[in-house]
Formats: sequence, structure tokens, C-alpha cells
Amino acid sequence: MRTQVGIVGAGPAGLTLARLLEVAGIESVVIENRDRDYVERRIRAGVLEQGTVELLREAGVAERLDREGIVHHGIHLQFDGERHHVPLSELADGRSITIYGQTEVVKALIAARLASGLPLLFEVDGVSVHDLDTERPRIRFAHEGAQLELECDAIAGCDGFHGVCRPSIPSGVLRSFEREYPFGWLGILAQVAPSIDELVYAHHESGFALLSLRSPELSRYYVQCRPDEDIGEWSDERIWEELQLRTGLAGWTLDEGPILEKGVTGMRSFVAEPMRYGRLYLAGDAAHIVPPTGAKGLNLAVSDVRILAEALVAWYSTGSTTGLDGYSDACLRRIWRAEHFSWWMTSMLHKLGDDPFDAQLQLSQLRYVTSSYAAARSLAENYVGLTTL
Ligand SMILES: Cc1cc2nc3c(=O)[nH]c(=O)nc-3n(C[C@H](O)[C@H](O)[C@H](O)COP(=O)(O)OP(=O)(O)OC[C@H]3O[C@@H](n4cnc5c(N)ncnc54)[C@H](O)[C@@H]3O)c2cc1C
Repeated sequence: MRTQVGIVGAGPAGLTLARLLEVAGIESVVIENRDRDYVERRIRAGVLEQGTVELLREAGVAERLDREGIVHHGIHLQFDGERHHVPLSELADGRSITIYGQTEVVKALIAARLASGLPLLFEVDGVSVHDLDTERPRIRFAHEGAQLELECDAIAGCDGFHGVCRPSIPSGVLRSFEREYPFGWLGILAQVAPSIDELVYAHHESGFALLSLRSPELSRYYVQCRPDEDIGEWSDERIWEELQLRTGLAGWTLDEGPILEKGVTGMRSFVAEPMRYGRLYLAGDAAHIVPPTGAKGLNLAVSDVRILAEALVAWYSTGSTTGLDGYSDACLRRIWRAEHFSWWMTSMLHKLGDDPFDAQLQLSQLRYVTSSYAAARSLAENYVGLTTL
């Protein structure tokens, strides 16, 4: 088999790249080791930056997003028993965020790919990448009992944090930066109308909580927990009790409903650079991870592949390698900004330990971002996505 761009991984990064290349008339083959149902049901991100929405629209896969996505112009920060509104759009030159599940973005991209009759192979096995520093890199894998080899001009490693592409780069090439946090998030999807009009980030002496949503009927709520928390120890009653405690306010009620899904996610910051080795280009979670507090992971994945698609289009149309040569640096500027913002939001809002000094610093910072125009604007422009990087 032969193609122009071989794409490993059908998450948001791989599928968006495939779509952008299709629009530009560049061939690709996408391979994914899970089945379609699994990929479409994996509940993760839910906050899209305006730039992400605009790109999906330009790629012709935002018809349902435009109908069902919920545009928000602000968030709330809650601390010391009070809820403060941060008017994102007012602070960030009219830009907004859209609440729309990653599952729905992925479903639209898969449907578009299959409707175009282009190759997207699910349930592949034993994926390995070869000859990365040559002009003919290859991907080997098994599919439906056959052992296959795909010869490419370039390979996009969009296979997430635990994929095979990043570890296939020879040792000594990559430099990794990493931070693990001593806490995680216990997240629920509940069948109840959200009790909030905009996201609530709550700082509380028992730990952080986040009130988010997926639709007018589905709420997505989180509480800070241990990274190795046993979900079996959290009955639905205990989860609601903890949410009520951490987000409660006089005169406001958190409505409860059946919990459809619950799970624990660890928190990590990670960057591997450069994001290129020979003809292998890493994109999305394959190259970097952020803790979800800043809502940046999916948006970064989309921003990487936008830059990669533009560089590939320039290469195929003019032979220029300038974009490809600058790919890693161009992505990393935005990635490190998002790494800082996500770390900062995480550090400001989570219970870091039992040291009261830490808690006082957090409260001081929270008072500052909710009372100073300059501090609030800085939060807002990072949250909605910087346009200057
Ligand atoms: C609980 C949670 C909440 C989050 N909330 C937000 C949020 O609000 N906003 C936000 O922007 N981001 C959020 N994120 C992060 C976001 O979900 C990820 O950053 C995003 O999924 C990255 O997309 P990706 O395509 O790079 O990687 P992935 O989504 O991980 O996709 C990689 C794909 O590659 C496949 N794969 C892996 N190995 C192989 C292999 N060997 N061969 C073939 N295929 C392979 C995987 O099965 C997967 O389908 C959240 C994440 C979690 C876990």
C-alpha cells in the first residue's frame, strides 16, 4: 500500500488532519487500534476555543456543532463562599468558547471521512513505524488477519500519549519535560439539566470542583480526588454529597440526577520536543499533555494539525520545506503557553496539601483575577485561546 500521508491514530488530531488534507487534495490513510464505537464514545474534552470551532467549520464538519454547540461568554470562579463572574468575551475582544463534546467532534469527523469513501481502518494491530529518517517512511500493521505495510511520504503520529510513534524516535533525539500532580479528577456525566449557565471552577478547603455541561439535558461535573482513587469507593450518593459541599451557595441549588458514567483521570503536564524526527511529525497528545483545568488538550491537538496541514500543503504544492522545518517550533510556542496556563489554573484552584500558606496564596490570586481588569483579561485571553501565537 502507498499513500502520501500515513496517519496513526483516529482521535481529534488524526481525524482533523485527515480532513484538512482531504480538503486540500492530499491523500492519507488513517489507522486506529480501537473499534469505531470505542473511539466515538470516549468521553473527554468539552470546551472548544473559537479558533477550533472556526477550523472545524472551514473543514466542513461543523454543521451539527453550529446547531447544538452552546456558546459561552464567561465562566465563574468560586472561592471563600462567593461566586465571581469572569466575562470572557468582554475581556477578550469578543471571543467566546463553545461547549460541545469531543465525542461529537469525533463522530462528525468519522462520518465525513467514511462519506468521502476514504481509508480509515479501525481495529488494526501491532502498529510499528520504520525508516523515519528516509524519504519513504513505512507503517506496518495487521488488519483483518492480513499483515500490511504502508509506504508514505510522511507519517503523522497522532496516537496519543500511550501511542507507538513517540517511543519509535531513537533515544537522545527528544527532550521531555514532565510534571505529575498529586491529585486527579473524579468526573461524572449525569442525566440532569445543568444547574449553571456557565462553567463554575470552585476552590474549596475539601478540594477543587468543576461544574460543566454537555447539553441542556446532560451535566458534566468533577471533584478533585487522589490520582489512584478507587472509583468503587465512590457511591453516587457520596459523589453528590461532595459536589454539594464544594459548590454549595446560599440561594442556589445543585440539582441531582442519575449518573450515566463515572471515572477517575490522573493529571499530568508533559512536553516532548522537537515534535519531528525525519519524516515523522508528532501531533496532539502524542507530543504533549496538559492537566484539564485549562481546557486546552483538544484545542492544542487541533492547532498542531492545522499547522502541520498548512506545511504539508505548501510542500506538495511548491516543494518548500520551510513550513515542515518550522513545524515543531511553531507548535511549541502555543503549547508552552497552554502548558503554563493549565499549570497555573491547576495550581490556583486545587488543594495542594495541608499547608495553609499555599491556600492563602491561592485565595489572594483568586481575589486578584476577579478584581483586577489586567489579571482577569490575562486569564480570559488564555482561556478563549490566544490569537497572537
Ligand atoms: C477527563 C478529560 C477531560 C478533558 N477535558 C478537556 C477539555 O475540556 N478541553 C480540552 O481541550 N481537552 C480536554 N481533554 C484533553 C483531550 O481529550 C485530549 O487532549 C485529546 O483527546 C487529544 O487528541 P489526540 O487526537 O491528540 O489524542 P487521543 O484523543 O488520545 O487520540 C489518539 C488515538 O490514537 C489511537 N492509538 C493509540 N495507539 C495507537 C496505535 N499504536 N495504533 C493506532 N492507533 C493508536 C487511540 O486509540 C486514539 O484513538 C480532556 C482529557 C480528559 C482525559
